[in-house]
Amino acid sequence: MLIDAHSHIDSKEFDKDREVILKKCDILVVDAGINFDNDLTILELSKKYSNIIPAGGLHPENIDYKNFDQELNKVLELLDKFKIISEIGLDYYWIKEDEKRRIQKTVLERFLSEAEKRGKPLIVHIRGGIKDFLDIIPSYKVIFDVHAYEGNIKNALRIIELGGYISFPPVIIRDKQRQIVAKEIPIDRVLTETDSPYLGPTRDRNEPCNVSYSIKKLGEIWNIDDKSIERLIENNFKRFLGI
Ligand SMILES: [Zn+2]
Repeated sequence: MLIDAHSHIDSKEFDKDREVILKKCDILVVDAGINFDNDLTILELSKKYSNIIPAGGLHPENIDYKNFDQELNKVLELLDKFKIISEIGLDYYWIKEDEKRRIQKTVLERFLSEAEKRGKPLIVHIRGGIKDFLDIIPSYKVIFDVHAYEGNIKNALRIIELGGYISFPPVIIRDKQRQIVAKEIPIDRVLTETDSPYLGPTRDRNEPCNVSYSIKKLGEIWNIDDKSIERLIENNFKRFLGI
């Protein structure tokens, strides 16, 4: 079975053919929520499609920086309904102001502490904030995956050392840096994802079954056949979920 550890299959880009897309291959799809309303939508969708694993969170780009507490508390109250906490994290690529970055860290720490309390794994978005993330994460006993990791080998190895996973989207087929990182990290800490509808093998709409591109590339890098990689990633994902 294929694993898409991070997607936005709820997004409007899939309104016309979501069912077809979800049945194109044998796959489990994590659907990550970006804010409270989106988290609710994802819960509903996961009731309709048995291969969607709902994830709830508050994306750093969707924080209401004037009054972040109100929505954050609403999302935290929902968390028990989700198997995974996502999408959360730090985005310093789009958000430049110090005060807003400070709020991002506060929000992230609230999620980390809830994840620790509830024993739920997290899938995090880290863009530009890896240094702060690596400073924060050792204070929490949590299982986490860094989705669409785009950093260097040194920080990747630190993520592994802290017990984390790294997931690779199909864009790895045209991204040398991600290929170099994949070669250096232990294969039992790797997951596949798509971030659908983004980060595809081409610039067109990405879709969950495209994780097969990530598998093929990882197979080339590690010199392992595709079927074995598929089983390996499935086992990694089960371990990540604690099942
Ligand atoms: Zn995402």
